[in-house]
Amino acid sequence: MALVTTKEMFKKAYDGGYAIGAFNVNNMEIVQGITEACQEEKAPVILQVSKGARAYANHNYLVKLVEAAILCCPDIPIALHLDHGPDFETCKSCIDGGFTSVMIDGSALPFEENIAVTKKVVEYAHEHGAVVEGELGTLAGIEDEVSHAVGSYTRPEEVEEFVSKTGVDSLAIAIGTSHGAYKFKPEQCTRNADGILVPPPLRFDILEDISRRLPGFPIVLHGSSSVPQDYVAMVNAFGGAMPNAIGVPEDELRHAAQLSVCKINIDSDLRLAMTGTIRKFMAEHPDKFDPREYLKPARANIKELVRHKLRNVLGCAGKAE
Ligand SMILES: [Zn+2]
Repeated sequence: MALVTTKEMFKKAYDGGYAIGAFNVNNMEIVQGITEACQEEKAPVILQVSKGARAYANHNYLVKLVEAAILCCPDIPIALHLDHGPDFETCKSCIDGGFTSVMIDGSALPFEENIAVTKKVVEYAHEHGAVVEGELGTLAGIEDEVSHAVGSYTRPEEVEEFVSKTGVDSLAIAIGTSHGAYKFKPEQCTRNADGILVPPPLRFDILEDISRRLPGFPIVLHGSSSVPQDYVAMVNAFGGAMPNAIGVPEDELRHAAQLSVCKINIDSDLRLAMTGTIRKFMAEHPDKFDPREYLKPARANIKELVRHKLRNVLGCAGKAE
């Protein structure tokens, strides 16, 4: 199967009450871990590349790694997406270079400027068979070079005008998720019976208002890692220091996937799985120095984490048929 856009994926996901996982890729082991899980679980998938990933690995390496994944995973639809395109030129360069989907992130711009740049990207993308994700509202947190100290929720009263004026194919919204592994401060959270910190709930009222205004239209959630506490503990047990790393509870993401959310972005959880596994291996095997020996279990744990997301959070396992 060749690379696809997200159009068909999102239509089926919207109608079927599930979401597609959008996982960030930076190197071979991450691409393999994600796509092997998706192939075995028969799940459609979006592999996404940030500006930081292109700077780290080089555009051509990333595209060729994804092409290799397509050869090795022939039974599932795979889309290649630019995460947080900062301007028209970056989006154009990705579309020209084989991406099937781009995000233009004009969310920090004034409303009219966001519309103008998004519309320009949409016109170019649609002429070249690609699709576009826009964003309204800003997420707090840090992701590669995208950083905001404070977020602002999406204003539902703006979404119809934005979508109709830009012609955008999907819309990222801000309802309380955020980038990175420190999504909530402990003082924002309550503690459950087991003493585990529980963050404030996502603003489902805003999501429902937006969905009413845009019936049938695919919504995207960024910053949706759940920051598995077993991997945080593994990092901390083997020399790391990640106090109070807190993510979005998986049951809230599962609920969002049943509504109009068709794409859920997950990056930090994969980073944690990889780093925790490598730290543990290094600590337990101080004599080993072959990178394959510590990258192999890291890749295996990324694969199992993605499998869990597909089955239990996104609900997209078995949907590739
Ligand atoms: Zn993001």
